[in-house]
Amino acid sequence: MNIIIAGAGAMGSRFGYMLHKAGNEVVLVDGWQDHIDSIKANGLQGSFNGEEIKESMTIYNQNELGNVDFSADLVILFTKAMQLDNMMNSLKEMVGEKTQVLCLLNGIGHEDVVKKYVPESNILLGNTMWTAGLEGPGHVKLFGNGSLELQSLGNDEKAATEVIEVLNAADLNAKYSHHIRASIYKKACVNGTMNGLCTILDSNMADFGETSVADDIVETIVNEFAAVGKHEGVELNVPEVLAQIKTCYNRETIGLHHPSMYQDLIVSNRLTEIDYINGAIARKGLAYGVVTPYCTFLTQLVHSKEQILGAK
Ligand code: NAD
Repeated sequence: MNIIIAGAGAMGSRFGYMLHKAGNEVVLVDGWQDHIDSIKANGLQGSFNGEEIKESMTIYNQNELGNVDFSADLVILFTKAMQLDNMMNSLKEMVGEKTQVLCLLNGIGHEDVVKKYVPESNILLGNTMWTAGLEGPGHVKLFGNGSLELQSLGNDEKAATEVIEVLNAADLNAKYSHHIRASIYKKACVNGTMNGLCTILDSNMADFGETSVADDIVETIVNEFAAVGKHEGVELNVPEVLAQIKTCYNRETIGLHHPSMYQDLIVSNRLTEIDYINGAIARKGLAYGVVTPYCTFLTQLVHSKEQILGAK
């Protein structure tokens, strides 16, 4: 299959590398010039489950697609949320009538951006439990297992099944979902609590989880997600979501980690995806007449922190 990976950072590199190794024609498209130069000069480097890799891969800057002759069967979107619109605009000429577009970003409401450029019948909305790390331009760290679910917004299960087969031939553990928005909301609840709170509190997940107020804060935020979700046809099982969030506090497994937003803002001084997690709930809450004071406040705090640190 001819595949464009749009946004070839940590996750785009993982999917691009695994799909390329499985024999697909993969083209990476990105906007970070140092990263592009490094991959062009030395291939994609780093480690894959502990083994060193150095793989020659095709990569273009998203601003230089004018002369690129590549007819994509599938585009996989893996930008950060705030880069998505710009990327979709860059890809306009590369997305044909038959191109399926799979959106795997974290966060809520990305389909509204994708729909501006692609008919609903060609959009696959997904949610992934894979992880990946970028250690510098052109250098990835890929470790562990994952899975993903996807749903065709146009109920084109045949097209979705073809994509799932290609993903599974690359060991990406994909399956069809009839409730993808519920899965997206569930993951957004984990991100919407652990990410913003640990970033603002400068804490790992276990230390936060053991504070006397953690349960109250987390439950209030999850209830805001659930109240907004109801207006979008998403029925969240709040006790189940709370139990899932509590697994993040376990010191033996992931509790000592700082979540990805902390890595982005505090470690790398990069802007965060808060507007597409708690911020999305605050915006949608306003539109639906649902009060969301905790999500609104957390979004404001993270923006304040971004500005204090001069994040870019
Ligand atoms: P990423 O930051 O690694 O890459 C996203 C884009 O930012 C790429 O275009 C990349 O080239 C660019 N970029 C990265 N570092 C940069 C730097 N220092 N300067 C300039 N540009 C830079 O993002 P990701 O982790 O691949 O995430 C993509 C999407 O997938 C997000 O929505 C994220 O929330 C989601 N996601 C990530 C993971 C994960 O483990 N990384 C897991 C699941 C979902």
